[in-house]
Amino acid sequence: AARLVLPLFVFGMLINQIQRSEAAAARIAELLATEPRVADRSDAVPLTARPEEIRFDNVRFAYPGREPVIHGVSFAVGLGQSVGVVGPTGAGKSTLVKLLLRYYEPTSGQITVNGAPLSGLTLASYRGRLGYVSQDAFLFHGTAAENILLGDPAADLAAVRRAAAMAGIDERIMNLPDGYDTVIGERGMKLSGGERQRVSLARAILRDPAILLLDEATSAVDTRTEALIQQNLHALRQGRLTLAVAHRLSTVRQCDLILVVVDGCVVERGDHEALLASGGVYAGMWAVQSGAEATP
Ligand code: ADP
Repeated sequence: AARLVLPLFVFGMLINQIQRSEAAAARIAELLATEPRVADRSDAVPLTARPEEIRFDNVRFAYPGREPVIHGVSFAVGLGQSVGVVGPTGAGKSTLVKLLLRYYEPTSGQITVNGAPLSGLTLASYRGRLGYVSQDAFLFHGTAAENILLGDPAADLAAVRRAAAMAGIDERIMNLPDGYDTVIGERGMKLSGGERQRVSLARAILRDPAILLLDEATSAVDTRTEALIQQNLHALRQGRLTLAVAHRLSTVRQCDLILVVVDGCVVERGDHEALLASGGVYAGMWAVQSGAEATP
């Protein structure tokens, strides 16, 4: 299993580290070329314009040799918008993110960026626009500042601190023995899962990506801190496309569009108020979760 997990882990880590420069993107593309499933088509073209719309058009997907897990998903996210994806475990939420990361291509249907099929774009040009934060935040052995600077090595400490504050981790870092110079990550100061997620989020925020993908990015953060982070992420959606996957409905509450995914199908869609008013699956989940959170 390690042989399967390691490449995905390294890939996730690389995506986190992707820099905006073409050179860095090309280096990463080289490394990614060891992943056989998706490669540049011979006629692939670079994504030159800033992404302003991503559209899923009747996307179906099955993992190689498996039964289909995504059954005709359609939605669009435009500039300045955020889409939230919720649903039970195994519904296909992370698979939608993997399709957006282009770990895999749809079996049928199409994902387009600015109207052009994603499958026809060069991987490096597309992935260079992505910021990705996963549940399992990766920290390397280095200082807190260095870990965040991976998002944009040219940034100064003031920018690093702004990003950290947005991610709700600046105060915690300032309280570490050496502040931003404290060594964290492997063999360094041990941070909790939620703190690691916030450092990883700060890195993505510093990177200022055109497309921000958050897959359970704040799942280990306490609900109060998360509410603050969501406020900030809501402000950060300006000028980019955001897609957030979460188990916890409060994570996606402020999204412009929420997709409720069950068994690979979008069963409900709308914003929080509309979904509550419709009294369906989402409203039922909300009643359970808000009740659960109120219980000490
Ligand atoms: P969610 O994120 O909503 O919990 P996933 O997208 O992870 O759901 O999984 C959707 C379905 O796809 C599940 O049935 C899961 O077992 C299956 N699946 C996920 N990853 C793989 C994989 N790498 N290979 C085969 N099946 C997978």
